[in-house]
Amino acid sequence: MSRDLLQTAALNLKKAVPLMLKHQIPTTPINYALWYTYVGEQNLALNAQLDTVIAHYNTCPPVSSELLYRQYVADPVELNVRDMRLNLEAMATELSQSIKDTSLDTTEFQTCINSNFSKLNGIEEGALSVEQVLDLVRNLVKESDNIRSSTEFLTTQLQKAQTEIDALKQKLEKTEKDVLYDALTGCLNRRAFDADIAGMIAQAPEGTCLILVDIDHFKAFNDNYGHQLGDQVLKAVAKRLQEACRDGSKLYRFGGEEFAIIVPKSQLRITRQLAEAMRRGLEKLCLKDRRKDQLVDNITASFGVAQWQERQSVVQLIEKTDKLLYEAKRLGRNRVMPINN
Ligand code: GH3
Ligand code: MG
Ligand code: MG
Repeated sequence: MSRDLLQTAALNLKKAVPLMLKHQIPTTPINYALWYTYVGEQNLALNAQLDTVIAHYNTCPPVSSELLYRQYVADPVELNVRDMRLNLEAMATELSQSIKDTSLDTTEFQTCINSNFSKLNGIEEGALSVEQVLDLVRNLVKESDNIRSSTEFLTTQLQKAQTEIDALKQKLEKTEKDVLYDALTGCLNRRAFDADIAGMIAQAPEGTCLILVDIDHFKAFNDNYGHQLGDQVLKAVAKRLQEACRDGSKLYRFGGEEFAIIVPKSQLRITRQLAEAMRRGLEKLCLKDRRKDQLVDNITASFGVAQWQERQSVVQLIEKTDKLLYEAKRLGRNRVMPINN
């Protein structure tokens, strides 16, 4: 975090805390986040809503805080994980209660059996009447019934928990996937890129090559054809680039209309050829603009290609590739830089 950011953060907290005290808002992490966003005026819709709630209740009830937090502050992935954790916690509490109940019932049952059996011993000594023996047996049957329904309940609870755990597992797998994949294009995202490139440079950097791709004049494209067709182009470009990836190279959405390809254990010349093939592939791309009922075939992109050098950091490798991409733009776009090597 830069100094400026830190100063703003401190300033906002200084503003947020007295406001929270004034409105009697409990100091929970959610409330801190909410009021921090409020005083930072990062989202005016949130401020308006929070003002309305305060005007109405003179404070912000927990339910409203939670709703506002969900709507304006939280990241959906984080919410998903939080919901799952709460679900698991609730299930664990419920289960442990059932186990305790059953274990209590079992102990009672044990005591009852022991007492009944010690009384049954009296049969041998001829001290019990038939009626008394029958009473003991009836008692045993009743207690066994109790314990059976108690363990049955636990079994049902355990089965329910198992089903729920399976569902949660699937949800968690999906969330983990959401964290690494880009929702629009379906390819790996920037978070995955950062992790993969760092891992690669730390473990097996020799021969690692990087390609950065930036669609040309995409802002103008959006202005001309609309954002929706722009989105379709991003999907089509990602698909083309993905199809061209081979020998372990991986495609990532690096930013808005920028993509990155990490090519492991390669040579600059070969990677440059790969980028050139990708460039030609994009040039041939053709989409239909339904609104104007015409074909769109003027999509091009510029490419920067670099290979990791001894003692180079990840940032340096990205900067070098980005510089070459910028050169490609400067020289007229729709080209791969370096020209030759
Ligand atoms: P250059 O050739 O120099 O790269 O020009 P450019 O217009 O492509 O570059 P600039 O950085 O000015 O604009 C990038 C544009 O990409 C702006 C933004 O509207 C668009 N963009 C970024 N992400 C998305 C997206 O998810 N969908 C759509 N439709 N457009 C996007
Ligand atoms: Mg760009
Ligand atoms: Mg661009």
